[in-house]
Amino acid sequence: MADDLMKRVAILGSTGSVGRQTLDVVRSFPEHLSVVGLAGWSNSELLEAQIGEFNPKITWSRGLSEETQNVSDGLEEMATHPDVDVVVVATTGFSSLSPTLAALRLGKTVALASKEAVVMAGSIIQREIQSGGKLFPVDSEPSAIWQCLQGESSEVSGLTLTASGGAFRDRSLDQLDDVTPEEALAHPTWQMGAKITVDSATLMNKAFEIIEARWLFGVDWDRIQAVIHPQSIVHSFVEFHDGSVKAQLAFPDMRLPIQYALMYPERISGGFAERMEIEKLGSLEFYPLDDTKYPCYREGLKAARLGGTYPAALCGADDVAVELFLGGKISFLAISELVKRVLVEHKSGDETSLEDIVSVGNWARIRAHELAGI
Ligand code: MG
Repeated sequence: MADDLMKRVAILGSTGSVGRQTLDVVRSFPEHLSVVGLAGWSNSELLEAQIGEFNPKITWSRGLSEETQNVSDGLEEMATHPDVDVVVVATTGFSSLSPTLAALRLGKTVALASKEAVVMAGSIIQREIQSGGKLFPVDSEPSAIWQCLQGESSEVSGLTLTASGGAFRDRSLDQLDDVTPEEALAHPTWQMGAKITVDSATLMNKAFEIIEARWLFGVDWDRIQAVIHPQSIVHSFVEFHDGSVKAQLAFPDMRLPIQYALMYPERISGGFAERMEIEKLGSLEFYPLDDTKYPCYREGLKAARLGGTYPAALCGADDVAVELFLGGKISFLAISELVKRVLVEHKSGDETSLEDIVSVGNWARIRAHELAGI
């Protein structure tokens, strides 16, 4: 990497799990990365500490005092600020959509951790990428596909994403009715935020990743699948028409895909990667994903294939359902039931605008609350 290369980074959602791990990466490469923007939500104590450490030019938060808050129009303004080269979008839910699109339109690089943006507005985001916007995935499976595609110009014949199977991999569906939020949050291999960890237990997260792969890499639904891989060492496979299959391997650590997206196209030493001693890996297992065990996964892919505003309804409903489960208001199995009920009520047209997507997302949130009676 050229010694004089310095990327100026804004992090939307800097106090969340991905935001904190992004700052770990920045701390490791101060000669190549500088923080120019930090935005957070409710954890203002941590945000104030991050601002003290990194001294960013621009900050934004709902909770900050007036002196420290100099971007009044929020995330979109930070994402499009002239001093920002790379925008890390790691906010939860709908708030990721408008800053992602705004940054892409200006030709900035977006390192996207918030899958909801692509799930809700996949075709709109795909158009922005086709007209020159750079969107790099910050998640191990889509990052693995992206890494395997480097240097390849032929169309791929298939993508296979791996799934650890989440916290309840070894339980049957009828053993899941009384599981607690604490049990759902005990992910076997990954350290992540609460929403995505529950989405990993229901495998909604894997449906989201398939949707993300479809739009980011332009591969048809029928050519993308997921398999269970309990060790989370192989992050995805890419199959080519000549029968070759490429895979990307790494120990499960979110900081690696974050670092790859921030440093792309360079690979740089001195980060977090533990050297992988292949001879000590032992056996890696792969087996079919039984979708009858994962109703959220089925609902997610069904909504994605229906297209239109169904994925926006899916995201809104899932957001509320997971929130209610984490708050102890509904059971684990009620997450998929609630999502399904909202989707059944929804009717989408073929053509969808950004306004339609946002308003359906909001409708789904409200409807999920009404149907749950909370
Ligand atoms: Mg993932």
